[in-house]
Amino acid sequence: MRVLLVEDDDMIGQSLKQALGGNGWSVDWVKDGLLAQSALSDGGYACVLLDLGLPKRDGIEVLRKARGLGDHTPVLVLTARDGLDDRITGLDIGADDYLIKPYEFRELLARMRAVIRRRDGSAHSVIGGADVQLDITTREVLVHGERSQLSAREFALLHALLERPGAILSRDQLESRIYGWGEEVSSNAVDVLIHGMRRKLGVDTIRNVRGLGWRIAAGAAVAVAAAQP
Ligand code: CA
Repeated sequence: MRVLLVEDDDMIGQSLKQALGGNGWSVDWVKDGLLAQSALSDGGYACVLLDLGLPKRDGIEVLRKARGLGDHTPVLVLTARDGLDDRITGLDIGADDYLIKPYEFRELLARMRAVIRRRDGSAHSVIGGADVQLDITTREVLVHGERSQLSAREFALLHALLERPGAILSRDQLESRIYGWGEEVSSNAVDVLIHGMRRKLGVDTIRNVRGLGWRIAAGAAVAVAAAQP
């Protein structure tokens, strides 16, 4: 999955980018508020990590603008300890959560999972339907109760499909959910990925709709989350 990292501090940005990359995230890193705004308008992010004190346009303004435009991408605000007013403003205008610097990287990962889960409309970590379930904590997929591990890209692709059950996602839409800036994407990358996933998930789970894209099969699309307490 892709994350937009908005951080003007070189050291923090560099180390976060590296650590997130090591955890299977595709990280696009921008260092000012204007670049953050233009990256957000391109879409495709599972989550945004937003520093508030930024050159050109501060984080609060970036967030206000995005929410004003109807962008519901989960936003996790990263602030300094003394930034109480900023944190409150951030939450009021639509941040999903915040973390105070310095924080433990493990906690950052857990909070990212939590805000993504909430956006998926699920209080727990499993999304999907009766046939196919995706555990966003472990990146495991369960197909008819059979568990297998997904690569970071397979996970991003399946998450995109399960998030909008029934919707057909085009090649461009899927690529924008899987690959960050500067990643080489061959013209058949999505096909190769889906070919491999059908071996794990069964041939009928991801359906091709000729000329339009792909969608998840109907059996996988009925949400289980609502049925569970
Ligand atoms: Ca800053």
